Amino acid sequence: MATHTSQNTHQVIACQGGEATALERRPEPQPGPGEILLGLRVAGFCGTDLFKLKTGTAAVGSVLGHEIVGDVLALGAGVSGFAKGDRVVVPHHVPCGECTYCRRGNETMCETFRENLMEPGGFADTVLIRARAVEQAACKVPDKISDAQAVFVEPAACVLRGVQRAGLAGDGTVVVLGCGSMGLLHLLVLKAFAPDLYVVAVDPDEARQKIAADLGADAACAPGDGAMHAVRLTSGGVGADAVFDTVGGPKTLEAGLALTRHGGSVVLFAHAPDGAHADFDLNTLFKYERRIIGSYSGAVTEQKAIFDLICMGALDPSPLVTHTMPLDDFAHGVDLVVAQKALKVLFTPSRAAGNP
Ligand SMILES: [Zn+2]
Ligand SMILES: [Zn+2]
Repeated sequence: MATHTSQNTHQVIACQGGEATALERRPEPQPGPGEILLGLRVAGFCGTDLFKLKTGTAAVGSVLGHEIVGDVLALGAGVSGFAKGDRVVVPHHVPCGECTYCRRGNETMCETFRENLMEPGGFADTVLIRARAVEQAACKVPDKISDAQAVFVEPAACVLRGVQRAGLAGDGTVVVLGCGSMGLLHLLVLKAFAPDLYVVAVDPDEARQKIAADLGADAACAPGDGAMHAVRLTSGGVGADAVFDTVGGPKTLEAGLALTRHGGSVVLFAHAPDGAHADFDLNTLFKYERRIIGSYSGAVTEQKAIFDLICMGALDPSPLVTHTMPLDDFAHGVDLVVAQKALKVLFTPSRAAGNP
């Protein structure tokens, strides 16, 4: 095994402004006290990464990626609980646990939570994990759990947060709008969290409807009349208890509201176009007690809950992985997602660094 001295370099996917990225050789960070250095096994490409590339909001030189599984290569002073060679899954954000937001259950609004605890980011051959993430959120992955399962701990935790914020009863009808990788992950988390829920998956693409049905959706249909019919049929005509909007934008929000029952909720789980404003009848909220709930990211409690569901075998998101490729092929992977030819893309260490 290589020794990690200050001369070591690694390959990273560096943002170059706009959508452009390039594989770049850089000095490898060294773990300080409490920190660990992970050798990348897989890094999941996420809707947020895509959003930053498409909107040109990724700073030049920055390295995206935050859904990672890696092997411990080196440990800083004072790290306990981990050893070289351990396979680890860890999130990039950890709340402080003490501020007003944390104490009120809004941990993902915590100022400290916003700090990125991965250096330089997940799309790199090796990734430094800051002490707070090592101490509070890193988990050793059991042998029976694959990389393609473990890599979903962070995104599935984000989903679980929205599911829990919806205040579901455990049975009833829910709708997932959008059957991309995040919509399908909603389906799987909903089924793992509350197996008695009747889940209606909605997407205009027939191939994606079929995938949703294969993954356990009780109904899979196109938006509009088909969705309305499926929801009415299973809810005794009253509408869905909750609708999870994984598409974003005012039109989808309106469609979601129309599918909910009186007293039901729409959970917003997607970036809207910058400056987008919604326009709907306010009485749909007041007179009919509907709620619109934003849900942003996931906190350590949700991460641990998801990790347990995966380890128990109750949740297996690995069928969502359609492509696995080295970091050298990053732009190709992004293209596949944009063209909707891929669901979840995982990146592995670069060939440029001599990896297979
Ligand atoms: Zn993500
Ligand atoms: Zn806090």
